[in-house]
Amino acid sequence: MTTPGFFPTGIRFENIDKRYGGLYALRRVSLEVRAGECVAFAGRNGSGKTTLLRIAARLVRTSAGTVKFVASASETADSGARIGFVAHATMVYDELTAEENLLLFAKLQGIAGHAARAATLLEEVGLSERRGSLVRTFSRGMRQRVAIARALLNEPSVLLLDEPATGLDPEGITWLANTLRRMRDAGRTILMSLHGESEISALATRAVRLDAGAVVADTQAGASLHSIVTFAGA
Ligand code: ADP
Repeated sequence: MTTPGFFPTGIRFENIDKRYGGLYALRRVSLEVRAGECVAFAGRNGSGKTTLLRIAARLVRTSAGTVKFVASASETADSGARIGFVAHATMVYDELTAEENLLLFAKLQGIAGHAARAATLLEEVGLSERRGSLVRTFSRGMRQRVAIARALLNEPSVLLLDEPATGLDPEGITWLANTLRRMRDAGRTILMSLHGESEISALATRAVRLDAGAVVADTQAGASLHSIVTFAGA
């Protein structure tokens, strides 16, 4: 099943290196992520998960190698791929209300009917009643809901999430799991970094482990994720 408004999109990472001075944050990373996969990246702190997600989000340039987006409708949909990114720091404005945040980002992204879109998303993330409250008064979990609503504004075909469960209480984690499940089941491609096993890791259709910037394990589709997600040192 796919939702109208986006093309299922895969991502091809080809021989990615990312160097910061003499340090390799990523080393010859090649991965083919098919449209609709939900990939969990595991690995110690500093293993390169955030850097890989930021490269996919086009926020960081590679030192070598390329990232290509491959939409089912056309092999060359690269520039047209719509990406939603939920960073580790939530990147929302404290001094604006939840609704003002969404309206601002919708306008910046040139989204048609932005008021209606913001209202729909506030409903979807369970913040309709608090839409007029300043984000600075929100808990970490509520801020995360605003950040996720923000990432969904443009109907992304690819959703990138950096440790999305951090700071969420059990209710927040269940909410996030349900939200991501809907996204996954609608055919969106999801890449997320995770720590350990949770309701969130259970959604993954594939797990990839990074160590010192290199891919050291990959379950591919359908294989047991447990060993990779819970690997010692995770
Ligand atoms: P993870 O998300 O797995 O914790 P990161 O991708 O954040 O790992 O970091 C990978 C490596 O790259 C680390 O050694 C980190 O210190 C380094 N690194 C990340 N961003 C920068 C930066 N902007 N400048 C210098 N080093 C960086």
